[in-house]
Amino acid sequence: MDFSLSEEHIMIRDAAREFAQTELLPGVIERDIKQEFPDALVRKMANLGFMGIMVDPKYGGSGMDAISYVLIMEELSKIDASASVIVSVNNSLVCYGIEAYGTEAQKEKYLTKLATGESIGAFCLSEPEAGSDATSQKTTAIDKGDHYIINGTKNWITSGGRADVYLVIAQTDRHKGSHGINAFIVEKGTEGFHTGPKEDKLGIRGSDTHTLQFNDVKVPKENRIGDDGFGFRFAMKTLSGGRIGIAAQALGIAQGAYELALKYSKERKAFGTEICNHQAIAFKLADMHTEIAAARHLVMKAAWDKDQGNNYDMSSAMAKLYASKVAMEHTVEAVQIHGGNGFVKEYHVERLMRDAKITQIYEGTSEIQKIVISRSIIRD
Ligand SMILES: Cc1cc2nc3c(=O)[nH]c(=O)nc-3n(C[C@H](O)[C@H](O)[C@H](O)COP(=O)(O)OP(=O)(O)OC[C@H]3O[C@@H](n4cnc5c(N)ncnc54)[C@H](O)[C@@H]3O)c2cc1C
Repeated sequence: MDFSLSEEHIMIRDAAREFAQTELLPGVIERDIKQEFPDALVRKMANLGFMGIMVDPKYGGSGMDAISYVLIMEELSKIDASASVIVSVNNSLVCYGIEAYGTEAQKEKYLTKLATGESIGAFCLSEPEAGSDATSQKTTAIDKGDHYIINGTKNWITSGGRADVYLVIAQTDRHKGSHGINAFIVEKGTEGFHTGPKEDKLGIRGSDTHTLQFNDVKVPKENRIGDDGFGFRFAMKTLSGGRIGIAAQALGIAQGAYELALKYSKERKAFGTEICNHQAIAFKLADMHTEIAAARHLVMKAAWDKDQGNNYDMSSAMAKLYASKVAMEHTVEAVQIHGGNGFVKEYHVERLMRDAKITQIYEGTSEIQKIVISRSIIRD
């Protein structure tokens, strides 16, 4: 067993770290306050190959493995989880979904632009009445021969206002339940497709979250992904890989908060000594260091499973469940270590604490991850 990173992986991690420090860090507080989408930074990330990390180079991707993906996600998320969720959705939901399950024509038409960052992708599963219970899709896609007509509402869609390409899950045959669901590629600007106002969020405020409305939206049949009825399995398989990205995001948020807390504790003095010399603070740092390392092992294992071609449904759920818990708990501790300074924007940890919360909610809440894990254990 080898726990060390290859030279190539170290180079990729260092490039992402350098980019995050020099490009994402300046302005991150302002973007959070203004809820500003990082347009120029997305273009720069695209130039570095971060929008199509695992995509085959023949479709404009970087052809890297899942380990590289989580290394990049961790580094970006240490500084700016709003930027990293744009990367995560584009890579592991949209690009992966089309590359793994799309037709050659769909790949040529959509994947190349998504992988090079010329287009941005969004993944549209959640609805006002279908979140954790994703089988309760109310959005309909009625088969009209050579096309489908989509009607319904999707909410909480990341990059909802900025995206060009939307993967939309909808119910074609209600009698067939989850087997009557399909996934479609819908282009921005299609008649009847409307974007609602941007959500005013607790965290990841630089990302662009919207409700989408579909009113008699005509989608050609060649834009359906997979066979008729494949949509629910498509969503579940795609989300399984997405969870590796969100687990890496949570890991990065936790690591970023820990590094800030460690540095601060070595500088700030109270009762005549640096606060890290008080055992109550030192033990918090020990717990952070240990649990973040454990989270990293779970994240790496899930990515490794994906690279090996193993089933990663359970390992990705375990990584997301644990890394998001660690991110939430230790960002709170990082604020505590900063005392009053932890409560203001300039020290970054309050933003990381707010950003951490979403990792326990999207791409399946922590309760849903426990359902996935427990079902796998009981089945085996
Ligand atoms: C900022 C943000 C970005 C998002 N981005 C996207 C996106 O790009 N695309 C997309 O499709 N969706 C997106 N989502 C939606 C997200 O995936 C859902 O919010 C999430 O899956 C939970 O669904 P819900 O909000 O309807 O909560 P509900 O499903 O109503 O859950 C409410 C609570 O009940 C619990 N619960 C539900 N069922 C069970 C059960 N069987 N057992 C135990 N507990 C249960 C949940 O864990 C949760 O605590 C995003 C959400 C947010 C907030």
